[in-house]
Amino acid sequence: MGSDTLPMKPSPIPTQDDDPPNPSAALLSFNTDSTSSTSNPSHKPTIIFIFLLLITCIALSAAAAFAFLFFSNSSNTTTTPTSTTTSIDSKARPLAKLNHPVVILVSSDGFRFGYQFKTPTPNIHRLIANGTEAETGLIPVFPTLTFPNHYSIVTGLYPAHHGIVNNHFVDPYTGEFFNMGSHEPKWWLGEPLWETVVNHGLKAATYFWPGAEVKKGSWTCPEKYCQQYNGSVPFEERVDTTLGFFDLPSSEIPYFMTLYFEDPDHQGHQVGPDDPEITEAVANIDRMIGRLIEGLEKRGVFEDVTIIMLGDHGMVGTCDKKLIFLEDLASWIEIPASWVQSYTPLLAIRPPAGVDTADIVAKMNEGLSSGKVKNGKQLKMYLKEKLPRRLHYAASDRIPPVIGLVEEGFKVEQKSSKRQECGGAHGYDNAVFSMRTIFIGHGPQFARGRKVPSFENVQIYNLVTKILNIQGAPNNGSESFPKSILLPSA
Ligand SMILES: [Zn+2]
Repeated sequence: MGSDTLPMKPSPIPTQDDDPPNPSAALLSFNTDSTSSTSNPSHKPTIIFIFLLLITCIALSAAAAFAFLFFSNSSNTTTTPTSTTTSIDSKARPLAKLNHPVVILVSSDGFRFGYQFKTPTPNIHRLIANGTEAETGLIPVFPTLTFPNHYSIVTGLYPAHHGIVNNHFVDPYTGEFFNMGSHEPKWWLGEPLWETVVNHGLKAATYFWPGAEVKKGSWTCPEKYCQQYNGSVPFEERVDTTLGFFDLPSSEIPYFMTLYFEDPDHQGHQVGPDDPEITEAVANIDRMIGRLIEGLEKRGVFEDVTIIMLGDHGMVGTCDKKLIFLEDLASWIEIPASWVQSYTPLLAIRPPAGVDTADIVAKMNEGLSSGKVKNGKQLKMYLKEKLPRRLHYAASDRIPPVIGLVEEGFKVEQKSSKRQECGGAHGYDNAVFSMRTIFIGHGPQFARGRKVPSFENVQIYNLVTKILNIQGAPNNGSESFPKSILLPSA
């Protein structure tokens, strides 16, 4: 690992600390058994004594010879170092080959925190062992959905501020629909990292990311550096294209690159988080990380490049008929389907102008808490301004005025149906642990083997601009956060 990237100063080279087997432990099993030959009392005691003496001498010399062989042999054995290194860096490590810092932001969609222990993931664990990890996972923003979260990661803004408040929603002024294929810049507020990087006259590249195809400000989604989304492109091709950027002349190597994988979210929705299909998807993501590492090593830049591996949200199983039907509230209030912009896990209701929203919330909550609505107590309605402040889900007209928070694993539907449902979902309160995902930072400015407390993904934007040493746009992340997680400059 990294033999081609010698740090300038000899002292802070991280040692490949190994754990040699304890030779004394082996000696403990070397037992002498002296519970024999107490028979033959009729023979002369002197003969017995001489015989025993001889036996003892032979046994002792054999033991001495064995011990000699044992120790001389063990001293010749070379101990193979393990890949784990401990954190002994106190300063960021200088670049050895690249002329400028490079960050590759890798997203594995729906990679719930803990998936990394489902199956051997040697490559992800190599990044963890030699990098910095959020010990109990990365906290997504609310709602814990794909588009709001991916765009929060690259803008540092909560969805209310970057405008992508759901995977699909309606503009209350124009009545236009946003969906995951909407690339008009009017939807996408804030300044994503690729735009920030280009604003500084530097190059950025995206191999898929929600919002990356949107031509906005200085970002033109140039053909050479920006891929149009196509979910059927094999993961290997995405990795190899990204690696290909390192074969360009130095001035053309992008400072910032994104790499996106739909898995294991794709499988998670169909089968829930505990299915063997997820295990296989996780193992495959690990293979892709291995492919990325290997390609960077082959080019001699693995230790120079910063890899940030994360996900957008977690996943929870939704079996066992954990359903709430809006039609069951009819005795208290009728909620027509046309009022509902999304059902689950984020229930978002926009009634026509003139309908009293506070009255809707009050009547729905009355019904839900009455004990007469199946699973009613697992759903609570709010005026968006009254949602817990930690959710940051009010300051946008795109957010409908009435929002329901449903408990983990439950789903809301308009009316009862025969449809059998058993799968996985996300989108719940971001305080729910199953919604957490992973964060691993590996590169010159990340300490090796360090664990940091969980943090929200709006901090990533400032982290990346700090690593690239560029000025970022204003955002919801903390200015001091990067300092708390990165090594100080050398
Ligand atoms: Zn997702």
